[in-house]
Amino acid sequence: MLKLPTKPNPTATNPNPNRHPDTNATNPKKSVIVKLENVRKTYTNGAVGLRDVSIELYQGDFKFITGHSGSGKSTLLKLLYGAEQATDGEIFVNGFNLKGLKGKNLAMLRRKIGIVFQDYKLVPRRTVSENVAFVLMAQGYTYKEIQRRVQPALKMVGLLHKAHCFPEELSGGEQQRTSIARAIVNTPPLVLADEPTGNLDPDNAWQVIKILKKLNSFGVTVLLTTHDEQLVRAANHPVLHLQNGYIA
Ligand code: ADP
Ligand code: MG
Repeated sequence: MLKLPTKPNPTATNPNPNRHPDTNATNPKKSVIVKLENVRKTYTNGAVGLRDVSIELYQGDFKFITGHSGSGKSTLLKLLYGAEQATDGEIFVNGFNLKGLKGKNLAMLRRKIGIVFQDYKLVPRRTVSENVAFVLMAQGYTYKEIQRRVQPALKMVGLLHKAHCFPEELSGGEQQRTSIARAIVNTPPLVLADEPTGNLDPDNAWQVIKILKKLNSFGVTVLLTTHDEQLVRAANHPVLHLQNGYIA
């Protein structure tokens, strides 16, 4: 079984006043990694993203979020990685209370979350391996450590042989797998994927799900939005259904 290096993130042990007590739960397999309590999100223009959402995710969970366009799926994920702030309610992710989280603390939270988008968001003039390495360079990892991490991440997504290609030389599926490698190169305990299969044909979509399932088998918690009902059925993981800003 392929293992990504698990050297702890240098910032992981920093004490943080926002840490949530559930992180120290006695049963590590059951510790809460994501918690929303009565969360409401109203955007500045008055649009409602989420109305009243309370959910808990445990370490090692793999959950789908489904719902029609506009039901609040992206809003939910944005709140979890701190791209948006909740209007009301409490959010805890990986031991951080997200209320007012910014600057250094927000950066620390984001280092522990791998994020995958529908449109890949790769840097066009960088190779696959540079795209994956970039996040580690920005965090000040040594060249040696970067090498040690990038290779297994690319291997995990089956793209070692494309390491020196540019994004435009890749298929959509390969670009998405590159973005997954980038998301996991830092070995985060949580991966958030917003419609990661939205631009892919069924075969490539399933490859992405298989990679995320494999990651999950290593203990990574995965939260994935989609409106592909067939994929959800085939993947066979629990589903949270959003409807008009509520969990239905
Ligand atoms: P989904 O991802 O399920 O399609 P979103 O979370 O993107 O849904 O959107 C939920 C609601 O919030 C929609 O009514 C949408 O128009 C609104 N919304 C999302 N982002 C913004 C924003 N940045 N500003 C204003 N309204 C937004
Ligand atoms: Mg969306």
